[in-house]
Amino acid sequence: MAPSRDPAPRETTAIEPRRVVTLVLVLLLVLVLGVWRHHAMVDDTIHDFSGATMGTSWSARIDADLSGRERTEARQTVQARLDHVSGLMSTFDPESELSRFNRHTGTDAVRVSPELLRVLALARDVSERSGGAFDVTVAPYVDAWGFGPSESRNPPDDAELAELSPHVGYQLLAIDPAAGTVSKTDPATKIDLSAIAKGYAADEVTDALRQIGLTSFLVEVGGEIRTVGSRRDGRAWRVGIERPDEQAPGYWGTVDLTDQGIATSGDYRNYHEVDGVAYAHIIDPRTGRPIRMRRMSVSVVHPSTAMADAWATALTVLGPEDGYALARVQGLSAIFIVEAEGGLQSLMTPALSDRFAVEPSGR
Ligand code: AMP
Ligand code: MG
Repeated sequence: MAPSRDPAPRETTAIEPRRVVTLVLVLLLVLVLGVWRHHAMVDDTIHDFSGATMGTSWSARIDADLSGRERTEARQTVQARLDHVSGLMSTFDPESELSRFNRHTGTDAVRVSPELLRVLALARDVSERSGGAFDVTVAPYVDAWGFGPSESRNPPDDAELAELSPHVGYQLLAIDPAAGTVSKTDPATKIDLSAIAKGYAADEVTDALRQIGLTSFLVEVGGEIRTVGSRRDGRAWRVGIERPDEQAPGYWGTVDLTDQGIATSGDYRNYHEVDGVAYAHIIDPRTGRPIRMRRMSVSVVHPSTAMADAWATALTVLGPEDGYALARVQGLSAIFIVEAEGGLQSLMTPALSDRFAVEPSGR
């Protein structure tokens, strides 16, 4: 048999130099696009979540490669833990553990959840160290001034405040960590955890997200923020500090945080007006009256967001003079932003400016 002529194999193996160049170029393009796409994906892996809790909102940013199922798990983990904390500590939920404790009018020891006990112990610590400027038994005053569950809008008179005063005072609560109980020495004492519960909730969510293996994220509950790790690109989490000015909102600056909480209090966010007079929602427990409105805010950075939250409220009550002095003595990382002649002025404690990168954004 005559060998058949079969040129096909030679044709397919012999590639012209021009085609080689084209092929290499195409391969290069595929490679470049691939790398670029990969980078785009890595950038994309900061996942944002948000939702509602305790009469406010929450958000979370998670820096991780997450599948759809993992994203669902992360969201559900956050919401479940927040629902749990809200069920324990919300004053607006009549069935929360706290609301039930508030309705309890006995002086006997009441067994409470470990979480409630922990928050009350943290609150007690800040009360003692702030000379009572922070006090969760301020609830009757908060209600009287129209910021509590009853939302009455008529400012109380002196006689009414004098009537409430014997029921307010952190010393009226006896916490027994060993027995897991709390008791009131005054049966009419009520607790309001609004000044610490959001920060505490951010810490709880942090714990929950760590339990599902996440190591790089930021959690925000009603404006109080907890950062965990740094971002995977190596940068710290950058958090904005608001200007305490309703008329000209925006950011006063930013602070770079890794494994820290930050909380802000002030008279600019939550207040109401009666007959042209503005009342702040933060009350000085020592007088029973709202703090003077002066357009100021205090932000505190602390490894525990619950502590940052409580201290931010305490320092707001004390104001930029006494509050700043106490923050220094206590070694707190705090920044006061206060309206002064010529605009907003800021005052940072050395602990903040020495340890964290704080960038004013200019006015
Ligand atoms: P924050 O926004 O964290 O400063 O919390 C303010 C809320 O805490 C108010 O709306 C009140 O419900 C409650 N509160 C007001 N004054 C005080 C105070 N001196 N100590 C503790 N809680 C307070
Ligand atoms: Mg607070």
